[in-house]
Amino acid sequence: MIVRLILLILLAFLGYTAINAIQRFFVGSANRDQDDSDTMVPCAQCATYIPVDSALKRKHAGKIYYFCNKNCLDLYRKQP
Ligand SMILES: [Zn+2]
Repeated sequence: MIVRLILLILLAFLGYTAINAIQRFFVGSANRDQDDSDTMVPCAQCATYIPVDSALKRKHAGKIYYFCNKNCLDLYRKQP
């Protein structure tokens, strides 16, 4: 009787640990994804902040410039 109770507690503990580990794995990877898309960069033309993932990138003189859309990129390139 007591042995069965101990086994039950042990199983419950193992299940709890496993669920915790799985949750931590999924939450951890979700956080990593969010960190990447959360990085905001200013548009070099209109100074609007956009997520780095959706920004247009243009390397110029060793520096990377970000643009919110193609219009801004074209305007920036037309400048002297
Ligand atoms: Zn812009």
